Amino acid sequence: MKQAVRVAEAQEIILHAVQPSGVEKIALLSALRRVMAEDVVASRHIPPHDNSAMDGYAVLHRDVADAASERPARLQVVEVLPAGKMPRQPLQPGTAVKIMTGAALPEGADTVVQIEHTNGSDTSVDIYQAPKAGSNLRRRGEDIGVGDCIVPQHTLLRPADLGVLASIGKAQVLVYQQPRVAILATGDEIADLGDVDLTDKIINSNSYTLAGQVTEAGGTPILLGVAQDTREEISQRIASGLQADVLITSGGVSAGDFDYVRECLDAAGFDCRFLTVAVRPGSPITFGMVREVPVFSLPGNPVASMVTFELFVRPALLKMTGHTSFFRSPQQAILQDTVRKRQGVRTFLRGILQPQDQGLATVTTTGPQGSGILRSMSLANCLIDIPEETQIVQPGETVQVVPL
Ligand code: AMP
Ligand code: MG
Repeated sequence: MKQAVRVAEAQEIILHAVQPSGVEKIALLSALRRVMAEDVVASRHIPPHDNSAMDGYAVLHRDVADAASERPARLQVVEVLPAGKMPRQPLQPGTAVKIMTGAALPEGADTVVQIEHTNGSDTSVDIYQAPKAGSNLRRRGEDIGVGDCIVPQHTLLRPADLGVLASIGKAQVLVYQQPRVAILATGDEIADLGDVDLTDKIINSNSYTLAGQVTEAGGTPILLGVAQDTREEISQRIASGLQADVLITSGGVSAGDFDYVRECLDAAGFDCRFLTVAVRPGSPITFGMVREVPVFSLPGNPVASMVTFELFVRPALLKMTGHTSFFRSPQQAILQDTVRKRQGVRTFLRGILQPQDQGLATVTTTGPQGSGILRSMSLANCLIDIPEETQIVQPGETVQVVPL
Protein backbone atom coordinates (compact mmCIF):
# COMPACT_ATOMS: atom_id res chain seq x y z
CA MET A 1 0.00 0.00 0.00
CA LYS A 2 1.13 3.57 -0.70
CA GLN A 3 2.45 5.51 2.27
CA ALA A 4 -0.12 7.41 4.30
CA VAL A 5 -0.03 11.20 3.78
CA ARG A 6 -0.12 13.63 6.70
CA VAL A 7 -3.38 15.38 7.57
CA ALA A 8 -2.18 18.82 6.45
CA GLU A 9 -0.93 17.44 3.16
CA ALA A 10 -4.21 15.62 2.52
CA GLN A 11 -6.12 18.85 3.19
CA GLU A 12 -3.91 20.72 0.74
CA ILE A 13 -4.46 18.11 -1.95
CA ILE A 14 -8.23 18.35 -1.49
CA LEU A 15 -8.36 22.15 -1.46
CA HIS A 16 -6.24 22.20 -4.59
CA ALA A 17 -8.59 19.77 -6.36
CA VAL A 18 -11.94 21.45 -5.61
CA GLN A 19 -13.14 24.81 -6.91
CA PRO A 20 -15.94 27.19 -5.93
CA SER A 21 -19.30 26.13 -7.39
CA GLY A 22 -21.26 28.18 -9.87
CA VAL A 23 -23.44 31.07 -8.78
CA GLU A 24 -27.18 31.67 -8.83
CA LYS A 25 -29.54 34.54 -8.22
CA ILE A 26 -32.05 33.87 -5.44
CA ALA A 27 -34.73 35.74 -3.50
CA LEU A 28 -33.40 37.58 -0.47
CA LEU A 29 -35.71 35.66 1.83
CA SER A 30 -34.04 32.36 0.84
CA ALA A 31 -30.53 33.70 1.26
CA LEU A 32 -29.91 33.13 4.97
CA ARG A 33 -26.64 31.21 5.50
CA ARG A 34 -25.77 31.39 1.82
CA VAL A 35 -22.48 32.93 0.69
CA MET A 36 -22.47 36.11 -1.41
CA ALA A 37 -20.96 35.79 -4.88
CA GLU A 38 -20.98 39.57 -5.54
CA ASP A 39 -19.99 42.76 -3.78
CA VAL A 40 -23.12 44.73 -3.01
CA VAL A 41 -22.65 48.49 -3.28
CA ALA A 42 -25.29 50.85 -1.97
CA SER A 43 -27.20 52.73 -4.66
CA ARG A 44 -29.00 54.99 -2.18
CA HIS A 45 -28.42 56.76 1.10
CA ILE A 46 -29.80 55.26 4.30
CA PRO A 47 -31.55 57.19 5.69
CA PRO A 48 -32.52 58.91 2.43
CA HIS A 49 -33.11 62.35 4.11
CA ASP A 50 -32.10 64.11 7.27
CA ASN A 51 -34.92 63.11 9.58
CA SER A 52 -36.13 63.33 13.12
CA ALA A 53 -34.99 60.81 15.72
CA MET A 54 -37.76 61.92 18.12
CA ASP A 55 -41.37 63.00 18.21
CA GLY A 56 -41.10 66.74 18.76
CA TYR A 57 -40.56 70.07 16.96
CA ALA A 58 -38.12 70.87 14.19
CA VAL A 59 -36.71 74.32 14.97
CA LEU A 60 -33.90 76.76 14.32
CA HIS A 61 -31.67 76.38 17.32
CA ARG A 62 -31.15 80.11 17.72
CA ASP A 63 -34.94 80.55 18.23
CA VAL A 64 -34.92 78.31 21.30
CA ALA A 65 -31.40 78.68 22.67
CA ASP A 66 -32.51 80.65 25.75
CA ALA A 67 -35.72 78.71 26.49
CA ALA A 68 -36.44 77.84 30.11
CA SER A 69 -39.59 76.67 31.95
CA GLU A 70 -40.18 80.12 33.45
CA ARG A 71 -39.38 81.83 30.09
CA PRO A 72 -40.56 79.46 27.32
CA ALA A 73 -39.73 80.23 23.69
CA ARG A 74 -43.00 80.50 21.79
CA LEU A 75 -43.05 79.48 18.10
CA GLN A 76 -45.82 79.31 15.54
CA VAL A 77 -46.44 75.74 14.34
CA VAL A 78 -46.70 75.88 10.53
CA GLU A 79 -47.08 72.22 9.75
CA VAL A 80 -47.60 68.80 11.37
CA LEU A 81 -45.39 66.17 9.73
CA PRO A 82 -46.11 62.48 10.13
CA ALA A 83 -43.38 60.00 9.08
CA GLY A 84 -43.62 59.44 5.33
CA LYS A 85 -44.81 62.96 4.49
CA MET A 86 -42.37 65.45 2.98
CA PRO A 87 -42.19 69.02 4.40
CA ARG A 88 -43.95 71.61 2.22
CA GLN A 89 -41.56 74.52 2.71
CA PRO A 90 -38.28 75.59 4.32
CA LEU A 91 -38.51 76.54 7.98
CA GLN A 92 -38.72 80.29 8.66
CA PRO A 93 -37.35 81.98 11.80
CA GLY A 94 -39.92 82.13 14.62
CA THR A 95 -41.75 79.01 13.41
CA ALA A 96 -41.61 75.30 14.14
CA VAL A 97 -42.79 72.11 12.45
CA LYS A 98 -44.37 69.45 14.64
CA ILE A 99 -42.53 66.35 13.50
CA MET A 100 -42.81 62.61 14.19
CA THR A 101 -39.93 60.16 14.48
CA GLY A 102 -38.62 59.28 11.02
CA ALA A 103 -40.22 62.23 9.20
CA ALA A 104 -37.95 64.21 6.86
CA LEU A 105 -36.56 67.40 8.37
CA PRO A 106 -37.69 70.67 6.72
CA GLU A 107 -34.89 72.58 5.01
CA GLY A 108 -33.28 75.09 7.38
CA ALA A 109 -34.23 73.23 10.59
CA ASP A 110 -31.13 72.30 12.54
CA THR A 111 -32.49 70.80 15.78
CA VAL A 112 -35.43 68.77 17.06
CA VAL A 113 -36.85 69.54 20.51
CA GLN A 114 -38.40 66.43 21.99
CA ILE A 115 -42.09 66.74 22.72
CA GLU A 116 -41.62 66.15 26.48
CA HIS A 117 -39.84 69.55 26.69
CA THR A 118 -42.80 71.46 25.18
CA ASN A 119 -46.52 72.02 25.74
CA GLY A 120 -47.26 69.78 22.72
CA SER A 121 -49.42 72.34 20.88
CA ASP A 122 -50.35 72.04 17.16
CA THR A 123 -50.68 75.80 16.71
CA SER A 124 -48.38 77.73 19.00
CA VAL A 125 -45.80 75.76 20.88
CA ASP A 126 -44.02 76.68 24.11
CA ILE A 127 -40.52 75.25 24.33
CA TYR A 128 -39.31 74.83 27.91
CA GLN A 129 -35.84 73.54 27.35
CA ALA A 130 -33.43 73.67 24.41
CA PRO A 131 -31.30 70.67 23.53
CA LYS A 132 -27.81 71.19 22.09
CA ALA A 133 -27.80 72.47 18.51
CA GLY A 134 -28.08 69.53 16.09
CA SER A 135 -29.77 67.21 18.64
CA ASN A 136 -32.28 64.46 17.83
CA LEU A 137 -31.48 64.28 14.13
CA ARG A 138 -30.45 61.41 11.91
CA ARG A 139 -28.35 62.61 9.03
CA ARG A 140 -28.90 61.55 5.42
CA GLY A 141 -26.56 58.62 4.66
CA GLU A 142 -25.31 58.30 8.25
CA ASP A 143 -26.03 54.56 8.20
CA ILE A 144 -25.15 53.76 4.60
CA GLY A 145 -23.88 56.13 1.91
CA VAL A 146 -24.18 55.73 -1.87
CA GLY A 147 -21.13 53.76 -3.05
CA ASP A 148 -20.44 52.02 0.27
CA CYS A 149 -19.73 48.31 -0.14
CA ILE A 150 -22.25 47.05 2.39
CA VAL A 151 -21.98 43.28 1.87
CA PRO A 152 -18.78 42.05 0.27
CA GLN A 153 -18.40 38.89 -1.79
CA HIS A 154 -17.77 35.74 0.32
CA THR A 155 -19.95 37.01 3.20
CA LEU A 156 -21.92 34.26 4.93
CA LEU A 157 -25.32 35.93 5.13
CA ARG A 158 -26.75 36.45 8.62
CA PRO A 159 -30.12 37.99 9.51
CA ALA A 160 -28.54 41.45 9.87
CA ASP A 161 -27.10 41.19 6.35
CA LEU A 162 -30.54 40.35 4.96
CA GLY A 163 -31.84 43.51 6.61
CA VAL A 164 -29.02 45.65 5.23
CA LEU A 165 -29.60 44.24 1.74
CA ALA A 166 -33.35 44.83 2.00
CA SER A 167 -32.77 48.40 3.17
CA ILE A 168 -31.11 49.30 -0.12
CA GLY A 169 -33.86 47.59 -2.11
CA LYS A 170 -31.99 44.40 -3.02
CA ALA A 171 -34.74 41.82 -3.57
CA GLN A 172 -32.45 39.22 -5.15
CA VAL A 173 -28.84 38.35 -4.47
CA LEU A 174 -26.14 36.46 -6.31
CA VAL A 175 -24.85 33.58 -4.16
CA TYR A 176 -22.71 30.49 -4.65
CA GLN A 177 -24.64 27.34 -5.46
CA GLN A 178 -24.97 24.70 -2.80
CA PRO A 179 -23.24 21.51 -3.90
CA ARG A 180 -25.44 18.43 -4.00
CA VAL A 181 -23.65 15.83 -1.96
CA ALA A 182 -24.57 12.17 -2.50
CA ILE A 183 -24.09 9.94 0.54
CA LEU A 184 -23.79 6.19 0.06
CA ALA A 185 -23.69 3.80 3.02
CA THR A 186 -22.54 0.23 2.48
CA GLY A 187 -22.61 -3.03 4.39
CA ASP A 188 -24.57 -6.28 4.49
CA GLU A 189 -24.94 -5.84 8.23
CA ILE A 190 -26.42 -2.35 7.92
CA ALA A 191 -30.17 -1.76 7.85
CA ASP A 192 -31.76 1.62 7.25
CA LEU A 193 -34.47 3.49 9.09
CA GLY A 194 -37.77 2.25 7.73
CA ASP A 195 -36.48 -1.25 6.90
CA VAL A 196 -38.86 -3.94 8.08
CA ASP A 197 -36.45 -6.42 9.66
CA LEU A 198 -33.88 -4.82 11.91
CA THR A 199 -33.07 -8.03 13.86
CA ASP A 200 -29.31 -8.61 14.14
CA LYS A 201 -28.68 -5.50 12.08
CA ILE A 202 -26.69 -2.40 12.76
CA ILE A 203 -28.83 0.58 11.90
CA ASN A 204 -27.33 3.06 9.47
CA SER A 205 -26.29 6.10 11.46
CA ASN A 206 -23.52 7.41 9.23
CA SER A 207 -25.87 8.65 6.50
CA TYR A 208 -27.66 10.80 9.07
CA THR A 209 -24.61 12.26 10.77
CA LEU A 210 -23.09 12.92 7.35
CA ALA A 211 -26.30 14.54 6.08
CA GLY A 212 -26.23 16.84 9.11
CA GLN A 213 -22.59 17.68 8.56
CA VAL A 214 -23.18 18.34 4.85
CA THR A 215 -26.07 20.67 5.63
CA GLU A 216 -24.04 22.56 8.23
CA ALA A 217 -21.25 23.00 5.71
CA GLY A 218 -23.67 24.53 3.19
CA GLY A 219 -24.29 21.51 0.95
CA THR A 220 -27.49 19.68 0.09
CA PRO A 221 -27.38 16.03 1.12
CA ILE A 222 -28.82 13.34 -1.15
CA LEU A 223 -29.17 10.00 0.61
CA LEU A 224 -28.50 6.99 -1.59
CA GLY A 225 -29.45 4.48 1.11
CA VAL A 226 -27.44 1.41 2.04
CA ALA A 227 -25.80 -0.76 -0.62
CA GLN A 228 -25.22 -4.44 0.07
CA ASP A 229 -21.61 -5.58 -0.14
CA THR A 230 -21.73 -6.72 -3.77
CA ARG A 231 -19.84 -5.23 -6.69
CA GLU A 232 -23.03 -4.84 -8.73
CA GLU A 233 -24.99 -2.96 -6.12
CA ILE A 234 -22.10 -0.71 -5.08
CA SER A 235 -21.24 0.11 -8.69
CA GLN A 236 -24.83 0.95 -9.49
CA ARG A 237 -25.16 3.32 -6.55
CA ILE A 238 -21.79 4.93 -7.25
CA ALA A 239 -22.98 5.63 -10.79
CA SER A 240 -26.04 7.42 -9.49
CA GLY A 241 -23.97 9.22 -6.83
CA LEU A 242 -21.72 10.59 -9.58
CA GLN A 243 -24.70 12.58 -10.89
CA ALA A 244 -24.28 14.80 -7.84
CA ASP A 245 -21.57 17.45 -7.32
CA VAL A 246 -19.76 15.47 -4.61
CA LEU A 247 -19.90 11.79 -3.67
CA ILE A 248 -19.26 10.46 -0.17
CA THR A 249 -19.13 6.74 0.45
CA SER A 250 -19.16 5.23 3.92
CA GLY A 251 -17.63 1.88 4.84
CA GLY A 252 -16.42 -0.96 2.70
CA VAL A 253 -12.91 0.45 2.48
CA SER A 254 -11.05 -1.81 4.90
CA ALA A 255 -9.05 -4.80 3.78
CA GLY A 256 -11.94 -7.21 4.39
CA ASP A 257 -13.03 -9.80 1.81
CA PHE A 258 -16.19 -7.85 1.00
CA ASP A 259 -14.81 -4.33 0.90
CA TYR A 260 -15.56 -3.50 -2.73
CA VAL A 261 -15.86 0.28 -2.64
CA ARG A 262 -12.38 1.08 -3.98
CA GLU A 263 -12.57 -1.56 -6.65
CA CYS A 264 -15.91 -0.16 -7.83
CA LEU A 265 -14.61 3.42 -7.75
CA ASP A 266 -11.64 2.35 -9.89
CA ALA A 267 -14.03 0.76 -12.34
CA ALA A 268 -15.87 4.12 -12.53
CA GLY A 269 -12.67 5.95 -13.50
CA PHE A 270 -11.39 7.05 -10.09
CA ASP A 271 -8.33 9.30 -10.19
CA CYS A 272 -7.00 8.61 -6.70
CA ARG A 273 -5.21 11.58 -5.06
CA PHE A 274 -4.45 9.82 -1.78
CA LEU A 275 -5.29 6.42 -0.41
CA THR A 276 -4.77 6.71 3.32
CA VAL A 277 -3.93 9.42 5.85
CA ALA A 278 -1.82 9.18 9.00
CA VAL A 279 -4.77 10.06 11.22
CA ARG A 280 -6.71 8.39 13.96
CA PRO A 281 -9.57 7.76 13.92
CA GLY A 282 -10.10 7.39 10.21
CA SER A 283 -6.87 6.40 8.50
CA PRO A 284 -8.53 4.51 5.62
CA ILE A 285 -9.88 7.75 4.11
CA THR A 286 -9.42 7.98 0.38
CA PHE A 287 -9.89 10.99 -1.86
CA GLY A 288 -9.90 11.38 -5.61
CA MET A 289 -11.86 12.62 -8.58
CA VAL A 290 -14.14 10.85 -11.01
CA ARG A 291 -14.08 13.33 -13.87
CA GLU A 292 -15.18 16.63 -12.22
CA VAL A 293 -16.72 15.01 -9.15
CA PRO A 294 -14.72 14.94 -5.92
CA VAL A 295 -15.15 11.58 -4.21
CA PHE A 296 -14.47 10.97 -0.53
CA SER A 297 -14.40 7.41 0.60
CA LEU A 298 -14.82 7.48 4.38
CA PRO A 299 -14.37 4.64 6.83
CA GLY A 300 -17.51 2.97 8.18
CA ASN A 301 -16.86 3.39 11.86
CA PRO A 302 -19.26 6.10 13.02
CA VAL A 303 -16.68 8.23 14.82
CA ALA A 304 -14.09 7.86 12.07
CA SER A 305 -16.78 8.88 9.59
CA MET A 306 -17.58 12.09 11.48
CA VAL A 307 -13.99 13.01 12.20
CA THR A 308 -12.83 12.46 8.63
CA PHE A 309 -15.76 14.50 7.35
CA GLU A 310 -14.78 17.31 9.69
CA LEU A 311 -11.12 17.19 8.65
CA PHE A 312 -11.41 16.56 4.93
CA VAL A 313 -14.91 16.99 3.49
CA ARG A 314 -15.96 20.13 5.36
CA PRO A 315 -13.07 22.28 4.09
CA ALA A 316 -13.84 21.13 0.55
CA LEU A 317 -17.52 22.06 0.88
CA LEU A 318 -16.60 25.43 2.38
CA LYS A 319 -14.39 26.15 -0.61
CA MET A 320 -17.10 25.01 -3.02
CA THR A 321 -19.72 27.19 -1.34
CA GLY A 322 -17.61 30.33 -1.70
CA HIS A 323 -15.92 30.70 1.67
CA THR A 324 -12.34 31.90 1.80
CA SER A 325 -11.38 30.37 5.11
CA PHE A 326 -11.82 26.64 5.44
CA PHE A 327 -10.89 25.65 8.96
CA ARG A 328 -12.28 26.32 12.40
CA SER A 329 -10.13 28.41 14.74
CA PRO A 330 -8.22 26.22 17.17
CA GLN A 331 -7.60 27.28 20.74
CA GLN A 332 -5.43 26.12 23.62
CA ALA A 333 -6.69 24.24 26.66
CA ILE A 334 -5.26 22.35 29.61
CA LEU A 335 -5.75 18.61 29.36
CA GLN A 336 -7.14 16.88 32.45
CA ASP A 337 -6.41 13.23 31.49
CA THR A 338 -3.48 11.18 30.30
CA VAL A 339 -3.39 10.44 26.59
CA ARG A 340 -1.13 7.85 24.97
CA LYS A 341 -0.98 7.51 21.20
CA ARG A 342 1.00 6.07 18.34
CA GLN A 343 3.86 8.19 17.10
CA GLY A 344 3.55 9.39 13.51
CA VAL A 345 -0.26 9.50 13.56
CA ARG A 346 -2.16 12.73 14.19
CA THR A 347 -4.85 11.86 16.68
CA PHE A 348 -8.19 13.55 17.34
CA LEU A 349 -9.85 12.75 20.63
CA ARG A 350 -13.38 13.78 21.44
CA GLY A 351 -13.26 16.32 24.23
CA ILE A 352 -15.37 18.43 26.54
CA LEU A 353 -14.02 21.94 26.67
CA GLN A 354 -14.79 24.01 29.75
CA PRO A 355 -14.02 27.72 29.86
CA GLN A 356 -12.54 28.86 33.19
CA ASP A 357 -12.98 32.23 34.91
CA GLN A 358 -9.26 32.82 34.67
CA GLY A 359 -6.63 31.52 32.32
CA LEU A 360 -6.94 28.76 29.76
CA ALA A 361 -10.00 26.55 29.41
CA THR A 362 -9.70 22.93 30.54
CA VAL A 363 -10.51 19.92 28.42
CA THR A 364 -11.30 16.31 29.31
CA THR A 365 -11.81 13.39 26.94
CA THR A 366 -15.37 12.08 26.65
CA GLY A 367 -14.31 8.68 27.98
CA PRO A 368 -13.80 5.58 25.81
CA GLN A 369 -12.39 6.70 22.47
CA GLY A 370 -13.02 3.63 20.30
CA SER A 371 -13.80 4.70 16.76
CA GLY A 372 -17.16 2.90 16.92
CA ILE A 373 -18.34 4.82 19.97
CA LEU A 374 -20.66 7.44 18.48
CA ARG A 375 -21.71 8.70 21.91
CA SER A 376 -18.21 10.13 22.23
CA MET A 377 -19.16 12.50 19.40
CA SER A 378 -22.52 13.53 20.77
CA LEU A 379 -20.98 14.21 24.19
CA ALA A 380 -18.11 16.18 22.70
CA ASN A 381 -17.97 19.91 22.05
CA CYS A 382 -14.47 19.83 20.63
CA LEU A 383 -11.77 17.68 19.10
CA ILE A 384 -8.46 17.45 20.93
CA ASP A 385 -5.74 17.58 18.30
CA ILE A 386 -2.56 15.70 19.26
CA PRO A 387 0.28 16.15 16.76
CA GLU A 388 1.98 13.32 14.88
CA GLU A 389 5.22 13.38 16.89
CA THR A 390 3.65 13.26 20.36
CA GLN A 391 3.35 9.90 22.14
CA ILE A 392 2.04 10.89 25.54
CA VAL A 393 0.34 13.94 27.05
CA GLN A 394 0.05 14.25 30.83
CA PRO A 395 -2.65 16.00 32.86
CA GLY A 396 -1.83 19.71 33.15
CA GLU A 397 -0.17 19.96 29.75
CA THR A 398 -1.50 22.41 27.18
CA VAL A 399 -3.10 20.94 24.06
CA GLN A 400 -4.71 22.35 20.96
CA VAL A 401 -8.47 21.88 20.64
CA VAL A 402 -10.91 22.62 17.85
CA PRO A 403 -14.32 23.73 19.18
CA LEU A 404 -17.10 22.20 17.08
P1 AMP B 1 -16.45 -1.07 7.27
O1 AMP B 1 -15.61 0.13 7.01
O2 AMP B 1 -17.49 -1.30 6.23
O3 AMP B 1 -15.62 -2.26 7.57
O4 AMP B 1 -17.26 -0.74 8.59
C1 AMP B 1 -16.57 -0.55 9.82
C2 AMP B 1 -17.54 -0.56 10.98
O5 AMP B 1 -18.45 0.51 10.88
C3 AMP B 1 -18.39 -1.80 11.06
O6 AMP B 1 -18.48 -2.20 12.43
C4 AMP B 1 -19.73 -1.38 10.57
O7 AMP B 1 -20.77 -2.10 11.12
C5 AMP B 1 -19.80 0.08 10.96
N1 AMP B 1 -20.59 0.79 9.98
C6 AMP B 1 -20.37 0.80 8.64
N2 AMP B 1 -21.28 1.55 8.01
C7 AMP B 1 -22.10 2.06 8.96
C8 AMP B 1 -23.23 2.91 8.93
N3 AMP B 1 -23.70 3.40 7.78
N4 AMP B 1 -23.81 3.24 10.11
C9 AMP B 1 -23.33 2.74 11.27
N5 AMP B 1 -22.26 1.93 11.36
C10 AMP B 1 -21.64 1.56 10.23
MG1 MG C 1 -18.56 -2.88 5.64
